[in-house]
Amino acid sequence: KVVTRFAPSPTGFLHIGGARTALFNWLYAKHTGGVMLLRIEDTDRERSTEAATSAILEGLKWIGLEWDGEPVSQFARAERHREVANELVCAGKAYYCYATPQELEEMREKARAEGRPPRYDSRWRDRDPSEAPAGVKPAIRIKAPQDGETLVRDKVQGDVRFPNKDLDDFIILRSDGNPTYMHAVVVDDHDMGVTHIIRGDDHLTNAARQTIIYEAMGWDVPVMAHIPLIHGADGAKLSKRHGALGVEAYRAMGYLPEALRNYLVRLGWSHGDDEVMSTEDMINWFDIVDVNKGAARFDFAKLEALNGIHMRNSRDEALLDQFLATLPYIESRGAIPLDLTSEQKAKLLAALPGLKERAKTLVELADSAQYLFVARPLALDEKASQILDADARAVIGALLPRFESLEEWSAATTEAAVREHAESSGLKLGKIAQPLRAALTGRSTSPGVFDVLAVLGKDESLGRLRDQAA
Ligand code: GLU
Repeated sequence: KVVTRFAPSPTGFLHIGGARTALFNWLYAKHTGGVMLLRIEDTDRERSTEAATSAILEGLKWIGLEWDGEPVSQFARAERHREVANELVCAGKAYYCYATPQELEEMREKARAEGRPPRYDSRWRDRDPSEAPAGVKPAIRIKAPQDGETLVRDKVQGDVRFPNKDLDDFIILRSDGNPTYMHAVVVDDHDMGVTHIIRGDDHLTNAARQTIIYEAMGWDVPVMAHIPLIHGADGAKLSKRHGALGVEAYRAMGYLPEALRNYLVRLGWSHGDDEVMSTEDMINWFDIVDVNKGAARFDFAKLEALNGIHMRNSRDEALLDQFLATLPYIESRGAIPLDLTSEQKAKLLAALPGLKERAKTLVELADSAQYLFVARPLALDEKASQILDADARAVIGALLPRFESLEEWSAATTEAAVREHAESSGLKLGKIAQPLRAALTGRSTSPGVFDVLAVLGKDESLGRLRDQAA
């Protein structure tokens, strides 16, 4: 059974790259009928915070990537990490190193002078601890192989070979008794039964060192897949300007979780020419061996277009739910109250088909839904007040009796009334529709004006028109 894991460090929010890593792990688990576990890598006590952990859990839930079982805290497992480090010492696979900070600094300086990366020179590898200087607390170092190479058989990167002369006897347990990140990850992945490690390719070199620990313990190395990082549209490393934001920022920008999943999965993976995918499609089609090696580029315009498509494809009821759940995070929600009455919800639902045609995000949807909630007399925007000149107000005044006499109020009946009025008065349709729109919504653009009339209902529509009529 496949066991994947997502292992974020709680030093900040769940950023968009992390969300994609989680998505790939989640999809692969779903695709194979396996599970995705969650491990919070909170060993760095200085930088890890509770707030970040909650933000990550909330971000994962919002984007729809629920993990299996309880989240594992890496810090809580420190005792087990120490136990394995000691086991390696007993087995002769690791050793106590009493090198002082000064000695280590000398090694680093020497490397700098020779223009090569620093490397521990294994000075305690074959020495007996009885030679240990008094008062120095030892670190535990792994006995890394000194010749040959370490092979990482990566599902995305292919076979990657690391010459062992470049991998020194690295520390697994610090002199203060705390495990290193390198060591903790291996022990945790093993104990959690992880079969597939899918993570960013910035961890590829770590994979070589981690392989050395697996081999020293005689443990099976999980299948590895190091996925390319996400870059900005200009090819540079992803920065905030490019979209390197927390997922909650994407929620506030009005993206649907399913659209974001669809967008993220295609950063580094594709299925023929399919651009728009449901989550079910993604689960059916996703496989890590199809992930590309090259860095993916983040493109807001594509995300927006895809989001618009997912909004239009959504059932109205489902879209309304998403919209209401997102509303508290939309800063520009304007006149839309957070606690809508059931009547207001019904209105919004009726308006949704017209609204979603033109909105690419829920933020745009909130904007074009303003007309439903603004109070009479409407504040007119600049263009609307230009449209509503004396002539336009007279057109509305002349049309009003026809509307008042309508018994059935719908998009069809109001449209018929406007057409009749156009014919009898010799006005072009636009000359009537534009003032109507301006008077009904306070703006120069809106969903179809007959839909607006129908959704507002007869009383409210007539009230708004009378406010502006001359
Ligand atoms: N905690 C690491 C990170 O956030 C991930 C480590 C791993 O996946 O092995 O980059």
